[in-house]
Amino acid sequence: MSDCLFCKIVEKKIPARIVHEDADTVAFEDVNPQAPTHVLVVPRKHVATMMDLGPDDDALVGKLFRAGAAIAKARGIDGPGYRVVMNHNRDAGQSVFHIHLHVMGGRRMGWPPG
Ligand code: 5GP
Ligand code: ZN
Repeated sequence: MSDCLFCKIVEKKIPARIVHEDADTVAFEDVNPQAPTHVLVVPRKHVATMMDLGPDDDALVGKLFRAGAAIAKARGIDGPGYRVVMNHNRDAGQSVFHIHLHVMGGRRMGWPPG
């Protein structure tokens, strides 16, 4: 999608610190990290929100989570623990409408989230 920030990162039209790429997903450092590890995992395909996922996207969702797990392992946060977040719409604070997993770790997380 031409005016989507994360599509532009996927297409390398704007820079990001990319930490993982495969055929279906791209992961990069969040520009405003909220934890020592804060990586965003996105599908190459533009999907605006979780509500826009269809049955053809089932494998893609699995790939997002498996990419997140690989990043957590590479960062050594799989043992201590980490958090995966997907914000949806206004009340959750979604600000970029191209779905993304926040993979966050390296510190203790509070619960419930704010
Ligand atoms: P959301 O609020 O939609 O759940 O998450 C969007 C995330 O994207 C935020 O954590 C924000 O810091 C990050 N972000 C916004 N603009 C950019 C950018 O240009 N580059 C990178 N790497 N992250 C961004
Ligand atoms: Zn997009």
